[in-house]
Amino acid sequence: MLIPYLELARNLKISSGSTVFISSDISRLAFEALENNIDFNVNEFIDIIQDKIGNEGTLLFPVYNWDFCHGIPFNYNKTVGKTGLLGNAALKREDFKRTKNALYSFAVWGKDKDFLCSLDPVISLGRNTVFEYLHRNNAINVVLDVAFSDHYTICHYVEQLLGVPYRYNKYFKSDYIDEHGNVSRKTYSMSVRYLELDVQGNADALYDEFLKHGAAYEEKIGRHTISYIDIAKSIPLIEKDILENNAAMQAQFKGQFDKKLSSDERMYKIIKDLFPITRSISGNGNRQTLKYLKENCLGELKILEYSIADNPTIFDWETPYEWNIDEAYIEDENGNIIIDFKNNNLHILGYSESVDITIPFSELDEHLYSLEDDIDAIPYVTSYYKTRWGFCLSHRQREELRKQPEKLYHVVIKSNFNKNGSITYGELIINGYEDDEILISTYICHPSMANDNLSGIAVATKIAKYIYALPERKYTYRIIFIPETIGALIYLKENINHLQKYVKAGFVLSCIGDDGDYSCVHTPYNNTYTDKIVTHVLKHITDTPKEYSYIERGSDERQFCAPNVNLPICTLSRTKFGKFKEYHTSNDNLDFVTEKGLQGGFEYVKKCIEILENNNLYQIKTIGEPQLGKYGLYPTISQKGSADYTRRLTNIIAYLNGENSILDIAEILNVPFNEVLEIIMQLNEKNLINIVGTEK
Ligand code: ZN
Repeated sequence: MLIPYLELARNLKISSGSTVFISSDISRLAFEALENNIDFNVNEFIDIIQDKIGNEGTLLFPVYNWDFCHGIPFNYNKTVGKTGLLGNAALKREDFKRTKNALYSFAVWGKDKDFLCSLDPVISLGRNTVFEYLHRNNAINVVLDVAFSDHYTICHYVEQLLGVPYRYNKYFKSDYIDEHGNVSRKTYSMSVRYLELDVQGNADALYDEFLKHGAAYEEKIGRHTISYIDIAKSIPLIEKDILENNAAMQAQFKGQFDKKLSSDERMYKIIKDLFPITRSISGNGNRQTLKYLKENCLGELKILEYSIADNPTIFDWETPYEWNIDEAYIEDENGNIIIDFKNNNLHILGYSESVDITIPFSELDEHLYSLEDDIDAIPYVTSYYKTRWGFCLSHRQREELRKQPEKLYHVVIKSNFNKNGSITYGELIINGYEDDEILISTYICHPSMANDNLSGIAVATKIAKYIYALPERKYTYRIIFIPETIGALIYLKENINHLQKYVKAGFVLSCIGDDGDYSCVHTPYNNTYTDKIVTHVLKHITDTPKEYSYIERGSDERQFCAPNVNLPICTLSRTKFGKFKEYHTSNDNLDFVTEKGLQGGFEYVKKCIEILENNNLYQIKTIGEPQLGKYGLYPTISQKGSADYTRRLTNIIAYLNGENSILDIAEILNVPFNEVLEIIMQLNEKNLINIVGTEK
């Protein structure tokens, strides 16, 4: 008697010596057997396929499982696959072995079993993975009773190779129990879509392309659909689909950013969009600001609320009540509005209490704030910890009003203090494969001013994008958007032990979008790894670096570097807070911050991160100098510049004693870090150096 499911296996169009990857749902086959009163023997099914492939071929079944991404330990011997019965059945057999990746593992049999089971890259879908092997070895993917769109992980492998702008490698860490029962903490990446983007591929259309171009062939056996995909042939079609389907373009220009904006224009747009919002150390303006970032730029941003009722104090500080304001204006006797918060939110003294009174100007004047030395600017003034009310205005307007001290004014402020409210802040964590962290902090508590503090928000956002796009990430990045001072204290209260244990370097971003000098505020003793990096970057990014001592502190480095906190955090600015005349006035506006200024600010932070990610210690392998000509490193034709190159190369080699980091050597030779890094990469490629460690 013919047993249908075994017949199906015998009739599969796979040839001896081939590499076969089977994606399947055999429940229909099993059900069919049951209907015919036949025992379903999955091992017999696998045996037949093995016979067809023979000893020179390789057979793989997927046994993917994503629990590891949720912090559930991966157990090499026990974690079952969620991609079909066949894979799990194969895992139970002596002749199959499992590959190592905790997310995308395969049950493998045949010629390349040992090789495949030796692969263990952190990046689950990139180079040196089973997917690359399937690609390079012309594997056939046999798809049995599964919809194409449900299983074609190869698409994500191709996206990884192309480095598409709508996906990034997200790193997951959890315990890993290996085949011998040894437990270790491991990291694997998964390619995930940016949450704020909505990019749709069309799997059915792609599959039709496969059929049309001979990359796939389909047949029906009984009720079953079997398709054979030639993986190597399918890959150029996937590439074409990604590019022509414009998934990349959709990702770039979606939503708020639907216009074709370059990345510095995009930073500027963030500032422009957020500029009108009334922010303070608490309140709805801060929520609105973070919501904008989450919806348009950073889908993984967590918006956190720190309850005031539950936390009346933060270390030595009282938690301020949540403050919101609806209206604030002053009108004269004739009903002319002379100051209105709606026109510029700097007009209101931050944290003003409600009032509704009519008073003569002489009395009102005591509640006004203006700048004698900049008579057209509206100053930014707050009163968080003492209950007051007040208005800010240009000194010119105030002087005009002073001419009629008896004139009466109706003053209205509708604000409220909510003791049951909360203080809002944002946190974005981008894992690297190490637990050590870099803290990047910026603040969200200023109303309509551009450099202080919207530039920090825009640059931090672009830095987050840059970090996401790093194909490999050593450090875990913790990027926080907090109200200045009180937010830093709240964040410390919630995380101080973790931060003290893991943070190896960090930056406060403040006033980082103008066209002025590049500057920093050092840690109290200017002796941390962060200080060393920042000094180096400053020296090479500008001819006029401004390095300020901690004595001139003023932003959240005050909390992060305080005696019992002691984090290695420097503040990075273009022109430092307080050093530009527009500071804390209405002149810190959308003209003061420029696209070019922001781009410079971004480069400044990016260069610091490049050092952090790459600053390893290397040792030259040779005793005495290596003979460069042998490695093709010595120019055989003398060209302009070639002598310089050779001199630099040999100078770098001269310091590769295993004790100097790349940054140390860059400092010794007084050249930028990336110039040394470039040569280190060449030496590494020629196998002339060993990595000895990482500077921290
Ligand atoms: Zn400020």
